[in-house]
Amino acid sequence: MHLSRYFLPILRETPKDAEIVSHRLMLRAGMVRQESAGIYAWLPFGHRVLSKITQIVREEQNRSGALELLMPTIQSADLWRESGRYDAYGKEMLRMADRHERDMLYGPTNEEMITEIFRAYIRSYKQLPLNLYHIQWKFRDEIRPRFGTMRSREFLMKDAYSFDLDQESARLSYNKMFVAYLRTFERLGLKSIPMRAESGPIGGDMSHEFIILASTGESEVYCHRDYLDFAVPGPDTNFDDAEALKKIVTRWTSLYAATSEKHDRDAFAAVPKDKQVTARGIEVGHIFYFGTRYSEPMKAVVAGPDGTERPVHMGSYGIGPTRLAAAVIEASHDEVGIIWPDAVAPFDVSIINLRPGDSGCDVACEQLERALAAKGKEALVDDTQERPGAKFATADLIGLPWQIIVGPKGLGQGQVEVKRRATGERSSVSIGDAIRMVAGG
Ligand code: ATP
Ligand code: MG
Repeated sequence: MHLSRYFLPILRETPKDAEIVSHRLMLRAGMVRQESAGIYAWLPFGHRVLSKITQIVREEQNRSGALELLMPTIQSADLWRESGRYDAYGKEMLRMADRHERDMLYGPTNEEMITEIFRAYIRSYKQLPLNLYHIQWKFRDEIRPRFGTMRSREFLMKDAYSFDLDQESARLSYNKMFVAYLRTFERLGLKSIPMRAESGPIGGDMSHEFIILASTGESEVYCHRDYLDFAVPGPDTNFDDAEALKKIVTRWTSLYAATSEKHDRDAFAAVPKDKQVTARGIEVGHIFYFGTRYSEPMKAVVAGPDGTERPVHMGSYGIGPTRLAAAVIEASHDEVGIIWPDAVAPFDVSIINLRPGDSGCDVACEQLERALAAKGKEALVDDTQERPGAKFATADLIGLPWQIIVGPKGLGQGQVEVKRRATGERSSVSIGDAIRMVAGG
């Protein structure tokens, strides 16, 4: 992609009303534009990041055995009347009427709708377990939308819903999601810690928020320091091995970790002083078993092995990709810009042409772009007429993992300069070596 033909509206000045660094950088790097309070358009550069995030989320959901579908954003109020939540939900729900004066709403979540789909088709325990998810826009009329896409009113959510015959099998579904979440956040370059969370009226231990530590986080959290060094289960994890999953979950819940709502001072005091972490955190995901909360009022029942019908046991599992885009930046930036982890970088490399129009520079950039593309690496070639200083500033701001700087002087000696954004390390190398460094091997 050539920058001269791309749409990357960079802001040189720091936007005044953006309170946190990720919001400032997302605006400055031309990723998003606010259209109304808490409602954002995702511009091409930001959209690429969002696509990478949702793709990783999707791959890990699929790996765990969940099945993707897509439910609508607009829902009928009648569904929510069945569960009793139409009146209970309050002002966060955006309500509307269609031309026939039927009450509709913009979905803040999908428990009711998925329960309706389930009950329409599933009758027997033999069709269980089942986990269905979608990645769809939600609307919640938050009192205080703020921090850009971190807490917006319209936001993207991956929400999965599990269905099981009883609580015991629901625990396996829960554990699958628990492990899938550990893997998802690790792949996004984040260190997440599962923390005991509010489990609602049914109680129990099956509710965890996945938190990443960041000074700008909205939650106050308390945890054991060792979690930060725990190894995350690999891609070879067998999601059909209930015992193995249980072991992972047991280990990842063995030490103290809780958000302020669930904080237990005495239990935390028992953690060795040098291992106590009190910090701010960002909730990036929430997994939650709620039993028959929806299946009972909505009559989603299955026949068990003995033929008797009973309400199905459910759990729901959310991740916020639009919040994650901001969270990744909170976790990975410096004073001059974003530092994208390789996995979510919108492009892999900035190729900075210091003298567009110079045939040697143009040919070298072209050659680099093509060779990298052949190795599956996408480049953003800065072929604009900006000064070199402005080009370097742009490259640092937008934070692609690699930069290759191509100028007439270096090329005279057959060399280009390669810079790793994260470390600032630079080296002058041949074009072939530059390709090998960026593409690996
Ligand atoms: P919070 O406590 O931050 O309001 P929540 O408990 O309401 O979150 P859930 O209903 O569990 O959130 O939603 C699942 C996920 O959706 C959250 O973990 C978060 O990643 C994301 N999410 C929730 N609300 C928002 C929002 N207003 N803006 C962006 N992402 C959100
Ligand atoms: Mg909320």
